[in-house]
Amino acid sequence: MKVLVLLSGGIDSTTCLALAIEKHGRENVEAISFNYGQKNIKELAHAKEICKFYHVNLIEMDISKLFSFSKKCAMLSHNNLELSHQTYDKQFENLKENENVISNVPFRNGIMLSICAGYAIENNLSKIYYGIHREEGIAYDLYPDCSTEFNKSMNEAIIAGSGRKVEIEAPLCNLSKREIIKLAVDKNVPLDLTWTCYDNEEVACGLCNSCTDRIKAFKELGLIDPIKYRRLT
Ligand SMILES: [Zn+2]
Repeated sequence: MKVLVLLSGGIDSTTCLALAIEKHGRENVEAISFNYGQKNIKELAHAKEICKFYHVNLIEMDISKLFSFSKKCAMLSHNNLELSHQTYDKQFENLKENENVISNVPFRNGIMLSICAGYAIENNLSKIYYGIHREEGIAYDLYPDCSTEFNKSMNEAIIAGSGRKVEIEAPLCNLSKREIIKLAVDKNVPLDLTWTCYDNEEVACGLCNSCTDRIKAFKELGLIDPIKYRRLT
């Protein structure tokens, strides 16, 4: 069986890649990364390094113009909006009706998984691995395309739309960030090569929601994070 791994260059998707390689053998694994016009374009270089480390083929998909309709998402470079350093609870409190958090890229997982499904059908790949994890607290509602409901429905759509040839595998969907890092350490995932930060600076900011989640999880596990931060809270 040949499989495709949606790789962002972060801890979750890199752990997914490690699990896919362990199960199917690296000769049966391809990775795919997306340039979707993200501010943190650096993550793509990290995805490349990770694929070099594992000796797997990387497909670099350019959909950088696709989200040009978006005016409200601070993850996209064309918007020139500041990302929030507030907690998700605080951001939720300040949300107006029908508004999303500024870091929500509209339906990103749905769009990427659809492209992955098309690629998988064309190239006879049977599974698409992606790294959604168990969102805790309010984050679950803030990122609906990371929810278990989304995952189940998207899987059904891909199975039906591919004539039962392709399905989704989300091996981390019941794990917290802390549990994923523990698993990653057990599987010798090269965490020093991963990029988590929403920013695109030389070193990770240490302040964005993505950095703070990572820092908190390492701290709770009593482990040393191998990457550098500009500032630790
Ligand atoms: Zn950051």
